[in-house]
Amino acid sequence: MRACLTILAVLAINLLIPTCHAQDETAVPITIVIHGGAGTIEKAKFTPQQEQAYRATLKQAVEAGYAVLKIGGKSLDAVTTAINVLESSPYFNAGVGAVYTAEETHELDASIMDGSNRQAGAVAGVKHVEHPIDLAKLVMERSPHVMLSGEGAEAFAKASGVTMVDNAMFNTEHRYEALLKTKKKLRDAMEKTPDYQAAHDLLDPKFKMGTVGAVALDSLGNLAAGTSTGGMTNKQFGRVGDSPIIGAGTFADNASCAVSATGHGEYFIRYAVASDICARVAYQDKTIKQAGYEVIHQVLPEAGGTGGVIILDTQGNISMPFNTAGMYRAYKNSPENTYVAIFKDE
Ligand code: ASP
Repeated sequence: MRACLTILAVLAINLLIPTCHAQDETAVPITIVIHGGAGTIEKAKFTPQQEQAYRATLKQAVEAGYAVLKIGGKSLDAVTTAINVLESSPYFNAGVGAVYTAEETHELDASIMDGSNRQAGAVAGVKHVEHPIDLAKLVMERSPHVMLSGEGAEAFAKASGVTMVDNAMFNTEHRYEALLKTKKKLRDAMEKTPDYQAAHDLLDPKFKMGTVGAVALDSLGNLAAGTSTGGMTNKQFGRVGDSPIIGAGTFADNASCAVSATGHGEYFIRYAVASDICARVAYQDKTIKQAGYEVIHQVLPEAGGTGGVIILDTQGNISMPFNTAGMYRAYKNSPENTYVAIFKDE
């Protein structure tokens, strides 16, 4: 009897040890990746203090998102936590620091998607919501809809109890100066061509761009993606970019990848950038690196579209392609490994 028990104990131990070992090896590589916009971002344009401030905020955002994942939190919550940090910073074009419309107001767009079930939520053209990404998540979780815009989105926000603020709370001096400069450039461009659309296209993208976004992979192996923006400087009121459009600025599906985009929204909408990247992964068996390269460095430039994306898959692979001079970006995929970059070739 005793021998029998000993054999059973040994068997149990032998069975358990490989199981524990296997669990370690297959543990999900929890990861968060963020961006803070792409554009003509060149080192010469920054003072050392400015560069340091951007890097510190990116690090703060990625650390905050990773902390959520580390305690077993959901990728959706890691995404909103990281984006909240960037929405509160005057350096990035989302929340405080959002660009101005031609009417000198701010209209904010945001979206979020859950890779585990393709649930999604989005808001467009909100003016008084402190954290649009949180409202997008509430649309996903507490409404029967995917996207709410303008007054309807604000009414839903009030009813949901989110923090409402005065539109002027998003004001910053540097964005106001950018608006004045953009208007002047546009007037100059219109002397060359009376066509407003053509004149607008002549503007250097630096006068127009910015956005923040995050993609994350949690310990359950679920992906999520989110994006939040003030849109483009001097946009016509009512203009909606790619950021709140699922499949254009944001996409997540555990079967392929999670993407958040930044760039000239009109192109990202027409080329369905985020879902195109994931479709190449799903249907053509491409890696996220290949798929991202094709869309950002081949498809978009041919069409005239500028910008970049962050991409993450369920194995924890990361890709951050952009076809501009720089893209604010960062990731964290272990307690020791935090990467923060702004310029090309970092
Ligand atoms: N994609 C944003 C928009 O078009 C702007 C940006 O990312 O720079 O609204």
